[in-house]
Amino acid sequence: MPEKEKKQLTKKPDKKKDNKNPKKKKGINYNIFWIYGIIVVAILALQFWDFGAKPETVYWNDLSKMIKEKEVLKITVINKEKAEVTLKPEVFNQKKYDKLSEKKMDEEGPHFLFRISSPEVFHKQLQDIQKDLAEEDVIFYASETRKDFSGEILSWIIPIGILIVIWVFVFRRMGGGGGAMGGGIFNMGKSKAKMFNNDAAIKTSFKDVAGLEEAKQEITEIVDFLKNKDKYTRLGGKIPKGALLVGPPGTGKTLLAKAVAGEAEVPFFSMSGSDFVEMFVGVGASRVRDLFSQAKAKAPCIIFIDEIDAIGRSRSSKSNFNSNDERESTLNQLLTEMDGFDTNTGVIIIAATNRAEILDNALLRAGRFDRQILLELPDLNEREEIFEVHLKPIKTNENLNMKSLARQTPGFSGADIANVCNEAALIAARGDKEFVGKQDFVDAIDRIVGGLEKRKKIITPQERKTIAYHEAGHATVSWLLEHSQPLIKVTIVPRGKALGAAWYLPEERQLTTKEQILDEICAALGGRAAEEVIFNKISSGALNDLERVTKQAYSMVSFMGMSEEVGNISFYDSSGQEYSFQKPYSEKTAELIDQEVKKIIDKEYMRAKNTIINNIVKFKELAERLQQKEVIFTDDVEDILGKRTFLNPHTEEAINGIRQDQLDIKKEKKMQEKKQAETSTKENKEIR
Ligand code: ATP
Repeated sequence: MPEKEKKQLTKKPDKKKDNKNPKKKKGINYNIFWIYGIIVVAILALQFWDFGAKPETVYWNDLSKMIKEKEVLKITVINKEKAEVTLKPEVFNQKKYDKLSEKKMDEEGPHFLFRISSPEVFHKQLQDIQKDLAEEDVIFYASETRKDFSGEILSWIIPIGILIVIWVFVFRRMGGGGGAMGGGIFNMGKSKAKMFNNDAAIKTSFKDVAGLEEAKQEITEIVDFLKNKDKYTRLGGKIPKGALLVGPPGTGKTLLAKAVAGEAEVPFFSMSGSDFVEMFVGVGASRVRDLFSQAKAKAPCIIFIDEIDAIGRSRSSKSNFNSNDERESTLNQLLTEMDGFDTNTGVIIIAATNRAEILDNALLRAGRFDRQILLELPDLNEREEIFEVHLKPIKTNENLNMKSLARQTPGFSGADIANVCNEAALIAARGDKEFVGKQDFVDAIDRIVGGLEKRKKIITPQERKTIAYHEAGHATVSWLLEHSQPLIKVTIVPRGKALGAAWYLPEERQLTTKEQILDEICAALGGRAAEEVIFNKISSGALNDLERVTKQAYSMVSFMGMSEEVGNISFYDSSGQEYSFQKPYSEKTAELIDQEVKKIIDKEYMRAKNTIINNIVKFKELAERLQQKEVIFTDDVEDILGKRTFLNPHTEEAINGIRQDQLDIKKEKKMQEKKQAETSTKENKEIR
């Protein structure tokens, strides 16, 4: 039996035992809140508990009778609100008042309670009722002011109590919501880092991280530094203090860190940059201090800070407007801690960000984050590997080709690919299929790229025609231009916000030439050009295209130095902080940039129009077919416009693969339809 399995088998019973213990301990958890609770309950009890016999409520009719019949000994008005009535002892002992003694009242009273509206009215009522009585029988009332202590205490305790509860709740939330690390006001400054060590169940390993070979190699080396420290320091070298994982969202930075936690046999502290930042000044810095003191106690170990840009943003003197003292003091503390301990203490910091350019230079300098590990969007082979990882738990058709899936997902990140696999499985499950097939993957990719299909959207026939010609315009122009991206399919089924779409396969390239951008702009303008050529009218359908084209043209002129008039000048600011309020060029240059952008777009629009006019018959045929079939593929376009000649061998191979898939899907669909037809005729026969 392999070592690992043996370990797991022997560990299992222990875990069960461990799990049982907390249950036993659970019971009642006594703390200070119990005392507060008891005090509040006691006060409430004082207020509402019936401690002795209470006088009976009496109404004016009965009270006036008692007074007239000279039964009343005395009346005391309390707090101008109520009158306590005491009967004469001989009357109290009469039979008709037996119920009073049953209620355990004694002769001393008071026996009745009469609620008065106002002392003046009560005074008048008494006078009126007694005007016929002899002078010695007339009763006057005494007034008394009594303090209702319990009521008064409650009236200030309740608001204070509510304030305390809110205060404790807010602080508890800030202090970590009662978790292991937080759970109190006094834990505010404690770090919220989760610690994983050998016993923690982190199952991610480097096997789960597909591609990213260089990054994996660098990061394994860092883990190795900690494990075999002497090997590296014996020649006088110092172990790096930190490594920064940089890359676009979803490229596997957190995953890689998790794999390190799973594989490194040292404690691993994980925290997000935003966990340091709190509303209160000084909490962030205190959390940094606490994190490092915990880490030093467990050294050798690794600290992982995800999304470090939350605290590591540049402290630029220019952008005072954006400055945040708390964040800056947290960053200062981090810088001090990273520099403040000896290199060989064995604490390595791994941080991840998608925006290294905005990080403070002091953070990036050698001696803090000595290494920057760049994670890029996966290339074709890496995508194939990522598909392999994520398809493992999914039941797929045998003929599923991962290479082809990788080909259809250029520009996708690892997270997108994971999403495609999951979405495909859900789509197949919705269709009650036994396996996830090619069609499900194509649908999943379409859904992720374009949004949900909305076949029920209300579209008038004229609108449908306009959309078809618009999309056919894109297809025709892009097909006939040398550098535009290869077309995969065109559809007039609304998806997400779009009413129709032309799907391209972006080329895997590292550099983009001016000609390529111009052809892309021209193809994007093909839709509007087609509308103008055919209907002599333009619509709002080109909004997205125009937005994209304008941005592309502006970046050509003002960032990439692709305009002869403006010259080889770039106003691009990679740090995103230089030109926040001012433009770095004069009004004259601004005008020139605008003119150049307009020139480019106008020229490309004319080119798109001419391409359509020169191929008007084929273009119309394509639009008609699109109206008929709703979705057309590369084969249909090739059938009408002829073979596309300018593809590079790499792209041609990719396109051929996709076409093969499209054919396979068609075949699969036909087979399914045939099967369905056969089963339904069989059922019909059986019914007969
Ligand atoms: P962000 O910068 O937005 O935090 P990230 O780079 O940290 O993103 P991860 O959270 O690591 O991205 O990746 C998200 C998911 O994408 C992972 O859980 C995993 O399923 C998948 N993924 C990303 N890259 C890979 C990869 N190389 N191999 C396998 N799966 C991957």
